[in-house]
Amino acid sequence: MSGSRVDLHLHSTASDGVLAPAALVAFVAECGVQLCALTDHDTVDGLEAAAAAARAHGIALLPGTELSARWRGRTVHVVGLDIDPTSPVLAAALAVRTAARTSRAELIRDRLDRCGAPGSAAWALIEATGTRIPTRTHFARALVELGAAQDAGRAFERWLGRGRPGNVAAEWPDVAEAVGAIVAAGGHAVLAHPLRYTLSAGARRELAAEFRAVGGTGIEVAIGGASPQQVETATGLALRAGLEGSVGSDCHDPALPWHRPGRLAKLSAAVVPVWHRWGSAPEFHTAQA
Ligand code: AMP
Ligand code: MN
Ligand code: MN
Ligand code: MN
Repeated sequence: MSGSRVDLHLHSTASDGVLAPAALVAFVAECGVQLCALTDHDTVDGLEAAAAAARAHGIALLPGTELSARWRGRTVHVVGLDIDPTSPVLAAALAVRTAARTSRAELIRDRLDRCGAPGSAAWALIEATGTRIPTRTHFARALVELGAAQDAGRAFERWLGRGRPGNVAAEWPDVAEAVGAIVAAGGHAVLAHPLRYTLSAGARRELAAEFRAVGGTGIEVAIGGASPQQVETATGLALRAGLEGSVGSDCHDPALPWHRPGRLAKLSAAVVPVWHRWGSAPEFHTAQA
């Protein structure tokens, strides 16, 4: 069975993905996706190389990003689609986050060191990669390389995930700023993976409503690895808030099959697909009514 032709959430080595932008686009094309977006965390660095690769493979690529933001003290992610990567307002929003990531990485390093994990050695490995966007994923991979965890999942469980010393909160700008920067760059803002935040059902609905009120366009309804119930819950959130629906695998690594590009549930016909403005072909992944 072929997967979705649309995948609007993907990561490359410009942030915490394992494939370089051109290799990622080649992989996405191989998976049968015809409209994709590169949405690296807090950067637009991979977009030029990705665009060239998309032209070479004959698939459509939207310039995107995934901004870290804060809502009621929690971190939430805002995907920006069809952004102008040269927008000065967006550049300023990215610069704030890049700086915050570097100082936070040093805090993560120190916290890991204090609890007996090789934080300094991990940070040295990360710095050697030359990344401008240090994430907890980088720490997870470095801890695995140093033998402090068996795999990245366990590194999160033990050191970096919720309630663990390396889960350092960053002072991300708030959601309205993130949406505003995306809109100022001519793009459309999509609330990423709404069910991944630890929020009550009521607070989640308030987040979706507020996201819409500050200028957001859509919400992710089908994400990689989502169960039918989760897709149904996210569909309800979209309909209630008057948000369009987006779909994205959030692929970081081609070795993880549940995040395979295009392997996504179909959007309910009741939800307006956010990609109607970029791909009008009817077979672009909407379930029949
Ligand atoms: P950061 O933005 O630096 O806090 O890092 C967040 C990133 O870590 C996410 O985008 C995921 O790619 C990754 N991540 C978060 N939690 C987990 C987990 N439990 N297992 C594997 N990766 C995770
Ligand atoms: Mn990530
Ligand atoms: Mn995310
Ligand atoms: Mn992501």
